[in-house]
Parts: sequence; structure tokens; C-alpha cells
Amino acid sequence: MQNKKLCNVRILVTGGAGFIGSNLVETFLQNGNEVVCLDNFSTGKKENIKEFLSHKRFSFFHGDIRNIRDCRKAVAGVDYVFHQAALGSVPRSVKDPHTTHEVNVNGFLNMLIASKEEKVRRFIYASSSSVYGDTEELPKKENFTGTPLSPYAVTKIVNEKYATVFSSLYGIETVGLRYFNVFGKKQNPEGEYAAVIPRFISQLLAHRSPVIYGDGNQTRDFTHVDNVTEANQLAALVSAPEALNTVYNVACGEQTSLNELFHILVDLLCRYDESIASVKPQYAEPRQGDIRNSFASVEKAEKKLGYKPLLNIRQGLEKTIDWYYHALKMID
Ligand code: NAD
Repeated sequence: MQNKKLCNVRILVTGGAGFIGSNLVETFLQNGNEVVCLDNFSTGKKENIKEFLSHKRFSFFHGDIRNIRDCRKAVAGVDYVFHQAALGSVPRSVKDPHTTHEVNVNGFLNMLIASKEEKVRRFIYASSSSVYGDTEELPKKENFTGTPLSPYAVTKIVNEKYATVFSSLYGIETVGLRYFNVFGKKQNPEGEYAAVIPRFISQLLAHRSPVIYGDGNQTRDFTHVDNVTEANQLAALVSAPEALNTVYNVACGEQTSLNELFHILVDLLCRYDESIASVKPQYAEPRQGDIRNSFASVEKAEKKLGYKPLLNIRQGLEKTIDWYYHALKMID
């Protein structure tokens, strides 16, 4: 099943100017599809889609998923929806639960309603490992979720519930993908809510000490964005009814602590600049709402979707560092 490609269909990627969305757009265009991107640039960037604007099979719709009229316009004539638009970041949701809810829950419901009305072939959406909340069991398996630890986690749980209800009530086909700490090119390294990998890479390249929240022994299942793109394609292509209207972990299946991550990054970055070896991390108080350990079982995705990670963490980091090194050098 691996390396099957979704071709010659019309696709809507919501949040297509964001990190994961713009990587999806690139692959879908390369494979000969027509791609519409809906985004309001709240966290996404124009430069992420700049290279697609001259493409004859690409169109951009500037709109907001909190407005159902925008959702209806964007979804017109579409076969598959890949719903990525949301406000990410656990700390953002702790600080401003209301806006996170409006975008992640109301916006999700609008997109689901618009997709049902348009009778799209399938609605594939981004869920998150945060739904596992306080469960201590490792690796995380799809059936065992605990109590959510943040408003962001609540929104992703609600998304999954809505998708289930819509598929049983209205027959719309859905697939939810629980992403585990995704990284790769075009992820924003700047700002208060930046994810750990791009933040560490850009700080190390500038010889600044990255901050590790907590003791650094907390673990994550860091997943390169190529694995996520692959899982999205497989979720669109699968046809067995028992593989639909359910959720899958999308991860590498490797457990890495933040201290280990820091050392791998220093090691890889020293190939570009040996003096990075002397940069040490700083430690700060743990952040509220963060899960202690996160590590996925990808067995269900392997069995039902034919998913297999294309890149392991080290291969993914090498590819990512190469991209950031050249991208950040161009800004200098
Ligand atoms: P991102 O912030 O780079 O992308 C999100 C995109 O959605 C942005 O382009 C943003 O402008 C757009 N957007 C936000 N609010 C919108 C609105 N109201 N209307 C229209 N567009 C809007 O984030 P990402 O990392 O690419 O995340 C994509 C999806 O994956 C999100 O649903 C996120 O919750 C989920 N996810 C990401 C990760 C990760 O590690 N990056 C992990 C788990 C789940």
C-alpha cells in the first residue's frame, strides 16, 4: 500500500498556508491534483505558499473557518477535504481558551457541515496526541484516552466526537489522524508558541541557549512531516469500510527525551558549524498542560492504512536541519 498516490482529484486543504498544510499542498500538486487552500494567515505565512501561486492547478481562498460562508465557498466542487486549520499550541490554549475553542471547535463544525452539504468523498482531519491526556500507558493506543490536560486537548477530543457523530448520522466518510509532535520544513521557529524542534535549531544556529521546560526527561514521539503527508494520502485512498470513520496515531513509533533531542541536534548541527558543540541548554519551570511522556503505537495505522514511517527521527532531523540551514542563511 505504501507510496500509493492520490491523483487527479480536487482537494481542499484548510490551513494550507501553515506548516503541515503547505507540505500537503506541495505533495498534492506534485501528484497532479487540483488544490484549493483556505487560510486566514493567523499563524500561517504567505511565504509558505508563494511557490504555488503561479501553479495553474492551485487556488488560494482567503477566509476564516469560523465563518460558514467561507467554508461553503472553499469546499465547492471539492472531492477530498484535508482539514488542518486550527490554533495549535497547548500554552496558547491555556492562555486563551476561548479563541482556541472558536477556531478549533466552531470552525471544525462549520467545515464538517459544509463538507457534508457538498457531499465530499471524504473528510480527513488533524487530531492530536494531546487527546491522550493523563493516561500513563505507553505506547499510546487509539482506544485508551485519559482526562485531557489542556483546552487544546479538549478541542481535539470534541473534533473526534463530531466526526464520529456526523459519519453515523449523515454518512459522511471521515478519518482522524492523531499527529504526534510533527517537525520539518516551513515550521515557524519564532514566537512564544513555536514548537521545540524549529526553535532549538534556529537558536543553536545563532549560538543561543535553548530553553528546556522541566528536567528534559519528558519524552515525545517526534514525527517528520513526510510521514504525516504519507498518512494523509493513505487515509484518502483506503477503501475498506472498517478502516473509515475512525482515528489513527500518526507517529514514528520512537521515544526521545528532550535532553536526547538536544544532543542529537547539536551533533547534527556541528556538521555545519563545530562551535555549536559548546552551546548548553537552559532549564525552566515545566509548562502547565504538557503531557509527561508521549510515544505512539502505530500498529493500527500499519494494519488498516498500510502506513509505515518513511523517515525515522534522525533521518527526519537531518533533512529538516539542511532545510533550515539554507533557509535561515538566506535571511542573514
Ligand atoms: P500551523 O499553525 O502552522 O497551521 C495552521 C494553519 O491554520 C495556519 O496557516 C493558520 O493561519 C490557519 N488557521 C488558523 N485559524 C484559522 C481560521 N480561523 N480560518 C482559516 N485558517 C486558519 O500549525 P500546524 O502545525 O501546521 O498544524 C496543522 C494541524 O495539525 C492543526 O490542526 C494542529 O492542531 C494539528 N497538529 C499539529 C501538530 C504539530 O506537531 N505541528 C501536532 C498535532 C496536531
